[in-house]
Order: sequence, then C-alpha cells, then structure tokens
Amino acid sequence: MEIRVIIAGMNEDDLYFKPPNKEEKHFKKRLQKKDRIVPRQTSKKNSPTSLSKPHDTGQVIAIGPGHVLLRRGGELIQSSLRGKLKKHFTAEKNLLAAGDLVRLDNDLLIAEVLPRRSVLQRKDNLSRKKNQTIAANADQCFITVSIQSPSLKPALIDRYLITCSMGNMIPIIVINKIDLLPDGDWQHCMRTYTRAGFTCVAASAKTLEGIESLKNLLAGKLSVFSGQSGVGKTSLINIVCETDFKTSEIVAQTQKGAHTTSAALIIPLKEGEGAVIDTPGIKSFALAKVDKTSLLDYYPDLQKFASRCKYPRCTHMHEPGCGVIAAIEAGELDPMRYESYSKIRESNDEDPVG
Ligand code: GDP
Ligand code: ZN
Repeated sequence: MEIRVIIAGMNEDDLYFKPPNKEEKHFKKRLQKKDRIVPRQTSKKNSPTSLSKPHDTGQVIAIGPGHVLLRRGGELIQSSLRGKLKKHFTAEKNLLAAGDLVRLDNDLLIAEVLPRRSVLQRKDNLSRKKNQTIAANADQCFITVSIQSPSLKPALIDRYLITCSMGNMIPIIVINKIDLLPDGDWQHCMRTYTRAGFTCVAASAKTLEGIESLKNLLAGKLSVFSGQSGVGKTSLINIVCETDFKTSEIVAQTQKGAHTTSAALIIPLKEGEGAVIDTPGIKSFALAKVDKTSLLDYYPDLQKFASRCKYPRCTHMHEPGCGVIAAIEAGELDPMRYESYSKIRESNDEDPVG
C-alpha cells in the first residue's frame, strides 16, 4: 500500500476540495487535513487530463454524496461513476465500495470496477434482498467487539467470521475495552476463539493495552475495522492512525453507541505501510446468503467432531448419536460456539443479529 505517499510533504493549502453541502462538509472533516484532493477536470478539450492514459486506474478512498474520492498515483482526485455504469444497480445495493480498484476513462470518470480479491458484504438494511458491499480488496477484517458496553454477541462474531471466509478476508477478533473487566471475563472469550483457530487480540483504547500487538497485525496490510456501534472502532483507529475522528458516547439505556461513522473511508496508518478502512457502525448484521447445509464448514472446531456423528447427514441440532453434541457434553467443545452455530442454523438467513 502506498497510501502514505498521498499525505507526505503536503500542506493545508493543497486542500482544493470544496464540499458543496453540509453532508460533504462532514465527509471532508473525516479526511486528514493534509490530504490533497485535485478536482476532476470536466472540459475534455482544455483539460490536461484528456491526455491521460485510457487504462488509468485508481482506488476508492471514500464515497460521498454525488462523488467518489479516489487515490490515483500520489494524489487524491474527485470522480464519479460513468453514466452507463449506474444502470448496473441490480442485485447489488452499491456498485462501489471503499477499497475498490477502478479503471478511469479520459475524463477521469469511473468506467469500470475491476475484479475484487475480497469483499465485506452484508444484506442491505432496508431491502434485505440486495447485497451491500461495505469494503473491497482488504486483506483482513478486524472484527471488533467488547464484552461489556455493548455486551458480547457470539452469533454476531460468527456471522462476521462466515462473511470473512465467504469474502476471502482473514478475520482477526479484537476484544476491546478490556480495562472495564477483570481478566477472567475476557480471557474466556479469547481462549474460545483462539482454540477455534482464529487470531484474537485483547486491547484497550483507554489504557493502550494490546495496541502494540494490534499495530503488528495491521502493518503492511489493508484492514477493515467492523463491528457493532460503540465497541471502540473509531477510538482504536484514532490511536493507530493518529487521527482525531469523533467517537460516539454509549447510550446508557441501549448500551449501544450512537451512530457516528457515516461512510467507509480508507485511512493510512501513522507508522509504516498499511491502511485501515473505517466502516459505519452496525446495529445488526444480516449475512449474505449462506447454505445452511454447509454451515459447519465455517466452524472448524465443531467440524472435528462431526465424523463421530451416527448419521452422515446429521445437522447436529437434535439427532441422536451426534458427535458434536456429545463433545459439548463431555466438555471437549465450548458451548458458546455451538450455541451460535445453532442460532444461525435455526435463523432465517436474512435475520439480523444484534
Ligand atoms: P465505535 O462506534 O465502534 O467507533 O466506538 P467509539 O470509538 O466511538 O467508542 C464508543 C465509546 O466507547 C466512546 O465513549 C469511547 O470513549 C469508549 N471506548 C472506546 N474504547 C474504549 C476502551 O478501550 N475502554 C473504555 N473504557 N472505553 C472505550
Ligand atoms: Zn451431529
């Protein structure tokens, strides 16, 4: 990732971006002050950009109302979708997401979205039939959770784990806010997911515990931070990127964070190569469609015991002689993992968890 190049050596006078309305002002505020944004040239004849190569590419840094912010080489440019591309809004809620690589035409309009190597997708909140792409081309996803305030939702973690696997991203579980708890309370969660084969890191944006481990995991990678609102994603990003984004206060009654992050945005790490994608906090997370019969494929720890099941087509829900259920009874498997397996297995694919 060479996103750092955008920031280096530029000063505030380089900020050419003039947001036309209130929403875009907020959008601008969320960018680092030193980011340089070059306005898109519209006149073909007089514009030096008309000399640009036909197969020019850029990466989507953020999507604002009516325009897209792209990194192209060492600079940020404003662009938008070529009209004919807009017709492609069919099964997808959004055609573009932060992290997308795009091909630009001579007017620096987006002519094509290049194939993605990974996606973070969920069902759209309103029209549950459509997929919403939250981020594209990230190497890994930091599934950020807290045990308390907001409370842990193992089924939500599992939905993320499945989504990462389907979307070709390495999942990393960040248990934040460990300062709020005595050791044992978060270590159980950490042990459960580590045993299941996932990378976990315990952290506190308040005491900075675990931040070095977090930085090591982030180094050189494009990483998405995702998870419920209020778990501390913005606070962690502010530390590793040295940004000053507004964090949300926990609403005492619901124990959920107020919504602050309004659109996904790529932010370079403060030290070394690599960048993070900050995503909108979510209150629910409906999985992109997963085949129930292959759900166990996403639970390698449970799958180990399935060879002991009496029936080859065992669903591990109620069948007699089920190896998975027997493993839980024998204390070989953590019930927390099985509970969320059965919760997802019984749920409607489109049910949100949160
Ligand atoms: P986001 O919605 O996931 O981005 O969460 P924020 O970063 O906005 O944090 C939500 C609230 O939790 C804010 O009031 C933060 O100050 C607080 N917070 C974040 N991280 C920690 C932490 O590690 N420990 C404690 N005690 N509070 C935290
Ligand atoms: Zn079984």
